[in-house]
Amino acid sequence: MLIGIPQESRPGESLVAATAKTAAQLRALGYDVVVETGAGAAADVSDAAYAGASDDGGVRVGSAEEVWGADVVVKVAAPTSEEVARLRRGATVVSMMAPARSPELLAQLEAAGVTALAMDAVPRISRAQALDVLSSMANVAGYRAVVEAAHEFGRMFTGQVTAAGKIAPARVFVVGAGVAGLAAIGAASSMGAVVRAFDVRPEVAEQVESMGAQFVRVAFTQEVSTDGYAKEMTAEQEAATAATYDEEARAADIVITTALIPGRPAPKLITAETIAAMRPGSVIVDMAAANGGNAALTVADERVVTDNGVTILGWTDLAGRLAAQTSQLYGTNVVNLFKLLTPASDGVLALDLDDVVQRQMTVVRAVDGVGETLWPPPP
Ligand code: NAD
Repeated sequence: MLIGIPQESRPGESLVAATAKTAAQLRALGYDVVVETGAGAAADVSDAAYAGASDDGGVRVGSAEEVWGADVVVKVAAPTSEEVARLRRGATVVSMMAPARSPELLAQLEAAGVTALAMDAVPRISRAQALDVLSSMANVAGYRAVVEAAHEFGRMFTGQVTAAGKIAPARVFVVGAGVAGLAAIGAASSMGAVVRAFDVRPEVAEQVESMGAQFVRVAFTQEVSTDGYAKEMTAEQEAATAATYDEEARAADIVITTALIPGRPAPKLITAETIAAMRPGSVIVDMAAANGGNAALTVADERVVTDNGVTILGWTDLAGRLAAQTSQLYGTNVVNLFKLLTPASDGVLALDLDDVVQRQMTVVRAVDGVGETLWPPPP
Protein backbone atom coordinates (compact mmCIF):
# COMPACT_ATOMS: atom_id res chain seq x y z
CA MET A 1 0.00 0.00 0.00
CA LEU A 2 1.05 3.60 -0.58
CA ILE A 3 1.35 6.01 2.37
CA GLY A 4 1.16 9.73 1.52
CA ILE A 5 2.77 12.40 3.73
CA PRO A 6 1.36 15.85 2.81
CA GLN A 7 2.67 19.33 3.41
CA GLU A 8 0.79 20.57 6.49
CA SER A 9 -1.66 23.33 5.59
CA ARG A 10 -2.42 24.88 8.98
CA PRO A 11 -0.81 28.36 9.18
CA GLY A 12 2.37 28.22 11.25
CA GLU A 13 2.45 24.39 11.43
CA SER A 14 6.11 23.40 11.29
CA LEU A 15 5.86 19.66 11.92
CA VAL A 16 5.80 16.89 9.35
CA ALA A 17 4.29 13.45 10.00
CA ALA A 18 7.38 11.52 8.85
CA THR A 19 11.09 12.31 8.81
CA ALA A 20 13.49 10.59 6.42
CA LYS A 21 14.27 8.10 9.18
CA THR A 22 10.66 7.25 10.04
CA ALA A 23 9.69 7.12 6.35
CA ALA A 24 12.38 4.45 5.95
CA GLN A 25 10.90 2.60 8.93
CA LEU A 26 7.46 2.66 7.26
CA ARG A 27 9.17 1.29 4.14
CA ALA A 28 10.65 -1.51 6.25
CA LEU A 29 7.08 -2.46 7.19
CA GLY A 30 6.43 -3.05 3.49
CA TYR A 31 4.77 0.27 2.52
CA ASP A 32 5.64 2.56 -0.35
CA VAL A 33 5.89 6.15 0.88
CA VAL A 34 5.39 9.38 -1.08
CA VAL A 35 6.18 12.70 0.62
CA GLU A 36 4.88 15.97 -0.83
CA THR A 37 7.61 18.25 -2.18
CA GLY A 38 8.81 20.58 0.57
CA ALA A 39 6.73 18.90 3.31
CA GLY A 40 9.71 18.53 5.66
CA ALA A 41 11.34 21.91 5.03
CA ALA A 42 10.19 23.58 8.26
CA ALA A 43 11.37 20.55 10.25
CA ASP A 44 14.81 20.53 8.58
CA VAL A 45 14.12 17.46 6.42
CA SER A 46 14.98 18.17 2.79
CA ASP A 47 13.40 16.54 -0.25
CA ALA A 48 16.83 15.01 -0.97
CA ALA A 49 16.87 13.38 2.49
CA TYR A 50 13.51 11.72 1.80
CA ALA A 51 14.57 10.68 -1.68
CA GLY A 52 17.66 9.00 -0.24
CA ALA A 53 15.86 7.40 2.70
CA SER A 54 15.48 3.96 1.13
CA ASP A 55 17.88 2.05 -1.11
CA ASP A 56 15.12 0.71 -3.36
CA GLY A 57 13.26 3.96 -4.14
CA GLY A 58 10.35 2.91 -1.94
CA VAL A 59 10.40 6.35 -0.30
CA ARG A 60 10.05 9.17 -2.83
CA VAL A 61 9.03 12.81 -3.17
CA GLY A 62 5.92 13.58 -5.21
CA SER A 63 3.06 15.97 -5.92
CA ALA A 64 0.11 16.83 -3.68
CA GLU A 65 -2.15 14.85 -6.08
CA GLU A 66 -0.10 11.68 -5.59
CA VAL A 67 0.01 12.14 -1.82
CA TRP A 68 -3.72 12.77 -1.38
CA GLY A 69 -4.55 9.90 -3.72
CA ALA A 70 -2.60 7.40 -1.57
CA ASP A 71 -4.18 4.40 0.22
CA VAL A 72 -3.21 5.92 3.57
CA VAL A 73 -2.60 9.63 4.27
CA VAL A 74 -0.66 10.41 7.45
CA LYS A 75 -0.46 13.99 8.72
CA VAL A 76 -0.11 16.02 11.91
CA ALA A 77 -3.05 18.47 12.10
CA ALA A 78 -6.60 17.30 11.43
CA PRO A 79 -7.52 17.42 7.73
CA THR A 80 -9.48 20.49 6.61
CA SER A 81 -12.78 19.94 4.77
CA GLU A 82 -10.96 20.61 1.46
CA GLU A 83 -8.41 17.96 2.38
CA VAL A 84 -11.10 15.44 3.36
CA ALA A 85 -12.59 15.98 -0.12
CA ARG A 86 -9.23 15.02 -1.67
CA LEU A 87 -9.10 11.60 0.04
CA ARG A 88 -10.01 8.54 -2.01
CA ARG A 89 -13.20 6.72 -0.92
CA GLY A 90 -12.03 3.70 1.09
CA ALA A 91 -8.69 5.32 2.00
CA THR A 92 -7.39 5.68 5.57
CA VAL A 93 -6.34 8.97 7.15
CA VAL A 94 -4.22 9.23 10.30
CA SER A 95 -3.70 12.54 12.18
CA MET A 96 -4.57 14.34 15.37
CA MET A 97 -8.33 15.01 15.28
CA ALA A 98 -9.54 16.12 18.74
CA PRO A 99 -12.57 13.85 18.10
CA ALA A 100 -14.45 14.96 21.22
CA ARG A 101 -14.45 18.55 19.94
CA SER A 102 -14.82 17.84 16.21
CA PRO A 103 -18.27 16.40 15.37
CA GLU A 104 -18.26 18.20 11.98
CA LEU A 105 -14.96 16.64 10.97
CA LEU A 106 -16.22 13.18 11.93
CA ALA A 107 -19.37 13.72 9.83
CA GLN A 108 -17.25 14.79 6.84
CA LEU A 109 -14.96 11.77 7.19
CA GLU A 110 -17.96 9.44 7.43
CA ALA A 111 -19.58 11.01 4.35
CA ALA A 112 -16.27 10.70 2.46
CA GLY A 113 -16.26 6.96 3.17
CA VAL A 114 -12.80 6.87 4.72
CA THR A 115 -11.34 5.20 7.79
CA ALA A 116 -9.91 7.72 10.26
CA LEU A 117 -7.46 7.04 13.10
CA ALA A 118 -6.93 9.81 15.65
CA MET A 119 -3.36 9.97 16.98
CA ASP A 120 -4.65 12.03 19.92
CA ALA A 121 -7.17 9.37 21.01
CA VAL A 122 -4.59 6.82 22.13
CA PRO A 123 -5.72 5.18 25.39
CA ARG A 124 -3.61 5.98 28.44
CA ILE A 125 -2.30 2.48 29.09
CA SER A 126 1.32 1.34 29.28
CA ARG A 127 1.15 -0.68 26.04
CA ALA A 128 0.03 2.41 24.11
CA GLN A 129 2.73 4.75 25.43
CA ALA A 130 4.87 4.19 22.33
CA LEU A 131 2.07 5.69 20.19
CA ASP A 132 1.24 8.62 22.44
CA VAL A 133 1.81 11.83 20.48
CA LEU A 134 0.29 13.99 23.21
CA SER A 135 3.02 12.86 25.62
CA SER A 136 5.73 13.34 22.97
CA MET A 137 4.59 16.88 22.31
CA ALA A 138 3.96 17.82 25.94
CA ASN A 139 7.46 16.66 26.81
CA VAL A 140 9.10 18.88 24.19
CA ALA A 141 6.74 21.77 24.97
CA GLY A 142 7.58 21.65 28.69
CA TYR A 143 11.27 21.99 27.90
CA ARG A 144 10.65 24.80 25.42
CA ALA A 145 8.47 26.67 27.93
CA VAL A 146 11.53 27.00 30.16
CA VAL A 147 13.68 28.18 27.25
CA GLU A 148 11.08 30.84 26.40
CA ALA A 149 10.83 31.87 30.06
CA ALA A 150 14.61 32.13 30.41
CA HIS A 151 14.88 34.27 27.28
CA GLU A 152 12.11 36.61 28.44
CA PHE A 153 13.45 36.76 32.02
CA GLY A 154 16.81 37.97 30.73
CA ARG A 155 18.69 36.90 33.84
CA MET A 156 20.56 33.76 34.87
CA PHE A 157 18.66 30.89 36.44
CA THR A 158 21.61 29.60 38.41
CA GLY A 159 22.90 31.21 41.60
CA GLN A 160 26.51 32.39 41.71
CA VAL A 161 29.02 33.36 44.34
CA THR A 162 31.69 35.47 42.69
CA ALA A 163 34.30 38.00 43.73
CA ALA A 164 31.86 40.61 42.46
CA GLY A 165 29.11 39.43 44.77
CA LYS A 166 26.36 36.87 45.11
CA ILE A 167 23.54 36.20 42.65
CA ALA A 168 20.51 34.34 43.98
CA PRO A 169 19.12 31.51 41.84
CA ALA A 170 15.87 32.14 39.98
CA ARG A 171 12.78 30.75 41.63
CA VAL A 172 10.44 28.77 39.36
CA PHE A 173 6.94 27.62 40.31
CA VAL A 174 5.43 24.89 38.10
CA VAL A 175 1.68 24.30 38.30
CA GLY A 176 0.67 20.80 37.19
CA ALA A 177 3.24 18.01 37.19
CA GLY A 178 2.05 15.83 34.29
CA VAL A 179 4.22 15.19 31.24
CA ALA A 180 4.75 18.88 30.36
CA GLY A 181 5.19 19.98 33.97
CA LEU A 182 7.80 17.33 34.72
CA ALA A 183 9.73 18.24 31.56
CA ALA A 184 9.66 21.90 32.64
CA ILE A 185 10.83 20.95 36.14
CA GLY A 186 13.72 18.93 34.67
CA ALA A 187 14.81 21.74 32.35
CA ALA A 188 14.57 24.49 34.98
CA SER A 189 16.36 22.40 37.63
CA SER A 190 19.17 21.55 35.25
CA MET A 191 19.67 25.26 34.56
CA GLY A 192 20.17 25.84 38.29
CA ALA A 193 16.83 27.36 39.30
CA VAL A 194 15.15 26.59 42.59
CA VAL A 195 11.99 24.81 41.44
CA ARG A 196 8.78 24.26 43.34
CA ALA A 197 5.76 22.46 41.90
CA PHE A 198 2.19 21.60 42.75
CA ASP A 199 -0.32 19.15 41.31
CA VAL A 200 -3.76 18.08 42.50
CA ARG A 201 -2.68 14.46 42.02
CA PRO A 202 -0.69 13.60 45.14
CA GLU A 203 0.92 10.59 43.48
CA VAL A 204 3.27 12.86 41.49
CA ALA A 205 5.06 14.23 44.58
CA GLU A 206 7.73 11.55 44.38
CA GLN A 207 8.39 12.21 40.68
CA VAL A 208 8.64 15.95 41.32
CA GLU A 209 11.13 15.42 44.13
CA SER A 210 13.17 12.91 42.11
CA MET A 211 13.70 15.65 39.49
CA GLY A 212 15.24 17.97 42.06
CA ALA A 213 12.18 20.13 42.78
CA GLN A 214 10.22 20.67 45.96
CA PHE A 215 6.61 19.49 45.97
CA VAL A 216 4.33 22.11 47.49
CA ARG A 217 1.94 20.49 49.94
CA VAL A 218 -1.54 21.86 50.61
CA ALA A 219 -3.65 20.75 53.54
CA PHE A 220 -6.69 19.30 51.78
CA THR A 221 -7.94 15.90 50.77
CA GLN A 222 -6.42 14.76 47.47
CA GLU A 223 -7.59 11.69 45.67
CA VAL A 224 -5.13 9.47 43.84
CA SER A 225 -6.35 9.39 40.21
CA THR A 226 -7.29 6.08 38.66
CA ASP A 227 -6.68 7.04 35.01
CA GLY A 228 -3.77 9.48 35.28
CA TYR A 229 -6.07 12.46 34.66
CA ALA A 230 -7.11 15.09 37.18
CA LYS A 231 -10.73 15.73 38.14
CA GLU A 232 -12.15 19.19 38.73
CA MET A 233 -11.54 20.41 42.27
CA THR A 234 -14.30 20.73 44.83
CA ALA A 235 -15.06 24.19 46.27
CA GLU A 236 -13.26 23.19 49.48
CA GLN A 237 -10.15 22.10 47.55
CA GLU A 238 -10.22 25.28 45.46
CA ALA A 239 -10.30 27.48 48.54
CA ALA A 240 -7.43 25.57 50.12
CA THR A 241 -5.23 25.78 47.04
CA ALA A 242 -6.00 29.41 46.08
CA ALA A 243 -3.88 30.82 48.90
CA THR A 244 -1.00 28.52 47.94
CA TYR A 245 -1.06 29.60 44.27
CA ASP A 246 -1.07 33.22 45.37
CA GLU A 247 1.80 32.81 47.81
CA GLU A 248 3.98 30.74 45.46
CA ALA A 249 3.41 32.99 42.43
CA ARG A 250 4.26 36.16 44.40
CA ALA A 251 7.54 34.59 45.51
CA ALA A 252 8.46 33.28 42.05
CA ASP A 253 10.47 34.81 39.21
CA ILE A 254 8.96 32.37 36.69
CA VAL A 255 5.58 30.62 36.81
CA ILE A 256 4.91 27.81 34.33
CA THR A 257 1.33 26.60 34.29
CA THR A 258 0.31 23.29 32.70
CA ALA A 259 -2.92 22.36 34.52
CA LEU A 260 -5.54 20.66 32.37
CA ILE A 261 -8.67 18.63 32.98
CA PRO A 262 -9.75 16.47 30.02
CA GLY A 263 -12.86 17.75 28.23
CA ARG A 264 -13.06 20.94 30.37
CA PRO A 265 -11.72 24.48 29.98
CA ALA A 266 -8.38 24.94 31.79
CA PRO A 267 -8.86 25.76 35.48
CA LYS A 268 -8.17 29.45 36.30
CA LEU A 269 -5.54 29.28 39.02
CA ILE A 270 -3.45 32.47 38.90
CA THR A 271 -5.74 35.43 39.50
CA ALA A 272 -5.39 39.03 38.28
CA GLU A 273 -4.77 40.10 41.92
CA THR A 274 -1.90 37.62 42.21
CA ILE A 275 -0.38 38.80 38.92
CA ALA A 276 -0.67 42.42 40.09
CA ALA A 277 1.33 41.48 43.19
CA MET A 278 4.12 39.66 41.29
CA ARG A 279 7.53 41.28 40.95
CA PRO A 280 8.31 43.41 37.85
CA GLY A 281 10.35 41.33 35.40
CA SER A 282 8.75 38.05 36.40
CA VAL A 283 7.38 35.79 33.67
CA ILE A 284 4.38 33.49 33.37
CA VAL A 285 4.39 30.86 30.60
CA ASP A 286 0.81 29.61 30.36
CA MET A 287 0.96 26.23 28.66
CA ALA A 288 -2.81 25.87 29.04
CA ALA A 289 -3.37 28.92 26.78
CA ALA A 290 -5.00 26.87 24.00
CA ASN A 291 -7.65 25.71 26.47
CA GLY A 292 -8.37 29.16 27.91
CA GLY A 293 -5.30 29.48 30.13
CA ASN A 294 -4.54 28.93 33.82
CA ALA A 295 -3.73 32.61 34.40
CA ALA A 296 -6.34 35.36 34.37
CA LEU A 297 -4.68 37.63 31.79
CA THR A 298 -3.39 35.05 29.28
CA VAL A 299 -4.16 35.60 25.60
CA ALA A 300 -3.50 32.59 23.36
CA ASP A 301 -0.51 33.13 21.05
CA GLU A 302 0.26 36.53 22.49
CA ARG A 303 2.84 38.14 24.76
CA VAL A 304 1.07 40.29 27.33
CA VAL A 305 2.98 42.71 29.55
CA THR A 306 1.02 43.95 32.57
CA ASP A 307 1.21 47.45 34.08
CA ASN A 308 3.40 46.11 36.88
CA GLY A 309 5.87 44.58 34.41
CA VAL A 310 4.88 40.90 34.46
CA THR A 311 5.16 39.17 31.07
CA ILE A 312 2.61 36.46 30.26
CA LEU A 313 3.41 34.21 27.29
CA GLY A 314 0.46 32.33 25.78
CA TRP A 315 2.33 30.47 23.02
CA THR A 316 0.37 27.43 21.83
CA ASP A 317 3.08 26.25 19.41
CA LEU A 318 5.82 25.42 21.92
CA ALA A 319 6.38 21.87 20.60
CA GLY A 320 6.45 23.21 17.02
CA ARG A 321 9.29 25.58 17.96
CA LEU A 322 11.52 22.49 18.11
CA ALA A 323 10.09 21.09 14.89
CA ALA A 324 12.89 18.71 13.89
CA GLN A 325 12.84 16.74 17.13
CA THR A 326 9.07 16.92 17.62
CA SER A 327 8.58 15.60 14.05
CA GLN A 328 11.00 12.77 14.77
CA LEU A 329 9.02 11.83 17.92
CA TYR A 330 5.65 12.18 16.13
CA GLY A 331 6.98 10.09 13.24
CA THR A 332 8.20 7.40 15.62
CA ASN A 333 4.78 7.32 17.31
CA VAL A 334 3.29 6.83 13.81
CA VAL A 335 5.73 3.99 13.03
CA ASN A 336 4.75 2.30 16.30
CA LEU A 337 1.09 2.57 15.28
CA PHE A 338 1.87 1.03 11.89
CA LYS A 339 3.71 -1.86 13.59
CA LEU A 340 0.38 -2.64 15.28
CA LEU A 341 -1.58 -2.15 12.04
CA THR A 342 0.79 -4.29 9.96
CA PRO A 343 1.38 -7.52 11.90
CA ALA A 344 2.81 -9.30 8.84
CA SER A 345 5.16 -6.39 7.88
CA ASP A 346 3.77 -6.82 4.37
CA GLY A 347 2.71 -3.24 3.64
CA VAL A 348 -0.96 -4.13 4.10
CA LEU A 349 -2.90 -2.23 6.75
CA ALA A 350 -5.00 -4.72 8.74
CA LEU A 351 -7.13 -2.80 11.26
CA ASP A 352 -8.06 -4.99 14.25
CA LEU A 353 -10.99 -3.49 16.15
CA ASP A 354 -10.74 -6.19 18.82
CA ASP A 355 -7.50 -4.53 19.93
CA VAL A 356 -8.41 -1.82 22.46
CA VAL A 357 -5.71 0.58 21.25
CA GLN A 358 -6.79 0.41 17.59
CA ARG A 359 -10.46 0.51 18.57
CA GLN A 360 -10.11 3.69 20.64
CA MET A 361 -8.18 5.48 17.90
CA THR A 362 -10.61 4.51 15.12
CA VAL A 363 -13.08 7.38 15.02
CA VAL A 364 -14.57 6.48 11.61
CA ARG A 365 -14.39 3.14 9.82
CA ALA A 366 -15.16 2.58 6.16
CA VAL A 367 -16.28 -0.78 4.80
CA ASP A 368 -16.64 -0.97 1.00
CA GLY A 369 -16.36 2.83 0.90
CA VAL A 370 -19.24 3.38 3.34
CA GLY A 371 -18.19 5.24 6.47
CA GLU A 372 -19.46 4.66 10.00
CA THR A 373 -18.58 6.88 12.97
CA LEU A 374 -17.20 4.83 15.86
CA TRP A 375 -16.59 7.73 18.26
CA PRO A 376 -16.89 7.72 21.21
CA PRO A 377 -15.44 4.29 21.84
CA PRO A 378 -17.20 2.00 24.30
CA PRO A 379 -16.17 2.69 27.93
P1 NAD B 1 -2.81 16.69 31.49
O1 NAD B 1 -2.15 17.40 30.36
O2 NAD B 1 -4.23 16.25 31.34
O3 NAD B 1 -2.76 17.65 32.78
C1 NAD B 1 -1.57 18.24 33.22
C2 NAD B 1 -1.46 18.18 34.72
O4 NAD B 1 -2.31 19.16 35.31
C3 NAD B 1 -1.87 16.86 35.34
O5 NAD B 1 -0.77 16.33 36.05
C4 NAD B 1 -3.02 17.23 36.25
O6 NAD B 1 -3.09 16.43 37.43
C5 NAD B 1 -2.71 18.67 36.57
N1 NAD B 1 -3.82 19.49 37.11
C6 NAD B 1 -5.14 19.54 36.75
N2 NAD B 1 -5.80 20.45 37.47
C7 NAD B 1 -4.89 21.02 38.33
C8 NAD B 1 -4.95 22.04 39.32
N3 NAD B 1 -6.09 22.67 39.60
N4 NAD B 1 -3.81 22.35 39.99
C9 NAD B 1 -2.66 21.72 39.71
N5 NAD B 1 -2.51 20.76 38.77
C10 NAD B 1 -3.63 20.41 38.09
O7 NAD B 1 -1.98 15.43 31.95
P2 NAD B 1 -0.73 14.71 31.24
O8 NAD B 1 0.48 15.51 31.48
O9 NAD B 1 -1.07 14.39 29.84
O10 NAD B 1 -0.61 13.33 32.06
C11 NAD B 1 -1.01 13.12 33.36
C12 NAD B 1 -0.53 11.74 33.84
O11 NAD B 1 -0.87 10.67 32.97
C13 NAD B 1 0.96 11.66 34.00
O12 NAD B 1 1.22 11.12 35.24
C14 NAD B 1 1.43 10.77 32.92
O13 NAD B 1 2.58 10.04 33.29
C15 NAD B 1 0.27 9.87 32.70
N6 NAD B 1 0.25 9.43 31.29
C16 NAD B 1 0.20 8.08 31.02
C17 NAD B 1 0.19 7.65 29.69
C18 NAD B 1 0.14 6.20 29.36
O14 NAD B 1 0.19 5.38 30.25
N7 NAD B 1 0.01 5.84 28.08
C19 NAD B 1 0.20 8.59 28.68
C20 NAD B 1 0.24 9.95 28.98
C21 NAD B 1 0.27 10.35 30.31
